[in-house]
Amino acid sequence: MNRNVTFRWLRPLAIGTIACAATVARAQDPGDMAGDEAPPAGERADPRWTMPAPPPRAPPRDWPAKPGEASICLWRDDKMLAFSITIDDNSAPDIPWWIEMGNQYGFRFTWFIITRRVGTAFGGTWEQFRKLVEMGHDVQSHTATHNAGSMTIEDEYRLAIEDIEKNIPGHRVRVLAYPGGAAVRRRRGQPYVNNDVEVAAKYYIGARGAGGQTTPAIGMPYLRTGRGAGIFDHERWTLNSFLNPGHLNYRGWHIVIYHTVSAARQRTGIEEGLRRVKEHEADIWVGLFREVVMYARQRDAATLKVDRADAREIVFTLTDTLDDAIFDLPLTVKVRLFDAWQGVSAQQAGKPVTARIVEHEGARFALVEAVPDRGRVTIRPAAH
Ligand SMILES: [Zn+2]
Repeated sequence: MNRNVTFRWLRPLAIGTIACAATVARAQDPGDMAGDEAPPAGERADPRWTMPAPPPRAPPRDWPAKPGEASICLWRDDKMLAFSITIDDNSAPDIPWWIEMGNQYGFRFTWFIITRRVGTAFGGTWEQFRKLVEMGHDVQSHTATHNAGSMTIEDEYRLAIEDIEKNIPGHRVRVLAYPGGAAVRRRRGQPYVNNDVEVAAKYYIGARGAGGQTTPAIGMPYLRTGRGAGIFDHERWTLNSFLNPGHLNYRGWHIVIYHTVSAARQRTGIEEGLRRVKEHEADIWVGLFREVVMYARQRDAATLKVDRADAREIVFTLTDTLDDAIFDLPLTVKVRLFDAWQGVSAQQAGKPVTARIVEHEGARFALVEAVPDRGRVTIRPAAH
């Protein structure tokens, strides 16, 4: 993948200027999720990046033509697009409501927390965040102090990981949401330390950026994704646009950012959105931010090889070039089955793995969940 193409298309690096809440007071303003503030003079974007060039187009769903042929699905479970809900600045008073929404619709959300604010009324308690992780939600880094200038950017990124992993035993921090508010702080003469993608890359496998664009599936900028607003109800992010091969959003990743959502009207709107997603779950992968970026990185680094395919079994090997201690998520591999196979059972290195059958134009395919570098995968026919 030509990274330059991707970065030219993306918005200029404006992570120091996003309107993400810099203080509790700002965080409580529901309008805070609006777009970027204009960067102050001297922080103007590299002009080469302001000429939009489209990202590489995502392919449609692949349907391998011959029995025994296989391919890695663009998204988990061969969904058309990916979707993540992220919640910034701890926003602790809303946690019970989000838990209720998660339970009601079966979705999981990502909290990007400012670790040194835990223990305040708006910052929540470690007990709350432990509970969220136990429930399958995710708690990741929004730095230690929201870049408030008391420490270096390296410490902001590093200490947030330490804080979370110390207070939520067994939990791992892999991703970051860059704090915004630099422009506001400078205007007010308050200290602020700038974000740094290179430093972030030392500590994180992915980071949510500031640009208000859909994150492309192909050529994904792992360390500065886009982010948007609204659950497929915003003009720029309708569900149709993600399903339309002619649209820039096609098969992309819609990442929604929330701060405080205390207003009844706002909660009603979010719930309508969650219902919409539920209705279209066959096409939408609702994943944690960490999972989606990990899936994309593994998929982009993976090699799939079918070792054997005959009427008795299909065997493939899935490898990647990444650190197996971190990148351990299953990828979905689609395998065209022999016509006589009604059902399948699948194993990786002798252990059962999930495989489900889908049909397309009279042919059957197995969607097999396999982790790269964890051994050969064998698929055998089984009773339907
Ligand atoms: Zn923030």
